[in-house]
Amino acid sequence: MRKTTAMNAETNTETINCPFCDESKSSPWAKENGFTAVKCSVCGLVYVNPRPIQSLIREGVETGIHSNVEHGRTAVVRRVRSNVIRYKKILALMFNDVWSNPREISWLDVGAGYGEIVEAVSALAHLGSRIEGIEPMKPKATRARARGLKISEKYLHDVTEKFDFVSLVHVYSHIPDFRVFLGEIKNVLADNGEFYLETGNIGDLGDSHEVPTELDLPDHLVFAGEHHLTGYLSEAGFSIVEIRRMRKDGIINFAKSIIKKFIGRKVTLAIPYTSRYRSILIRAKLCSLQSA
Ligand SMILES: [Zn+2]
Repeated sequence: MRKTTAMNAETNTETINCPFCDESKSSPWAKENGFTAVKCSVCGLVYVNPRPIQSLIREGVETGIHSNVEHGRTAVVRRVRSNVIRYKKILALMFNDVWSNPREISWLDVGAGYGEIVEAVSALAHLGSRIEGIEPMKPKATRARARGLKISEKYLHDVTEKFDFVSLVHVYSHIPDFRVFLGEIKNVLADNGEFYLETGNIGDLGDSHEVPTELDLPDHLVFAGEHHLTGYLSEAGFSIVEIRRMRKDGIINFAKSIIKKFIGRKVTLAIPYTSRYRSILIRAKLCSLQSA
């Protein structure tokens, strides 16, 4: 596929075509922190354009701090215990057949953060299973290890072992080229291995005001819709086992949004149960012919 990239040395940015369909035409969709997210005129993918050059993206991934961003916020936050409880509940349902089978498994969580997924899977998996995470952001990996979790400061392309399951939870938007990344995921999956992906469906939304919170540009670079995610997966030889769509605009989230607004965060207050925003949860299996 043709890739057109125009560098701008003065701003340390590059102008790109749509990362999903390679179309050059797009329209401005949202502005934040001095960056613009555009919507592809053909496939509807939302992506930062121009975006920071690759070396700055890598710097942001490793430190959680973008040196060229106007705002003072960073992506380094803290472990959220309620996330562990939430992930445990979701994964218990979506991988019920795995947990009810008394066999040891191996699971790699990519972009493991503070290790919430590793904790949740460890609580569900059969004793003796190998549950690990990789997290290139040093402060997060260090804190997760201090809590006894097996999280290493690696990139996916540095992993040499094979795993039965690989998960990628709220990491998709950080990845500049998901096609290349899916290839790396296939490289670490065992035969008939499975992939779990969770991200928001911002690419499905018509208007940026429907996004419930900040976009966090340019820390987040790409926002897909459901058809982009399933398109990437089928192109890479995965078959979908299950898709769930979870809304985030219930009463509890409404109350949280009011608090965020009160402390000065940029949030959209919408009437509960009216938003089209969803978390998309996908369980996919690598077809054995493709995994060779
Ligand atoms: Zn496109």
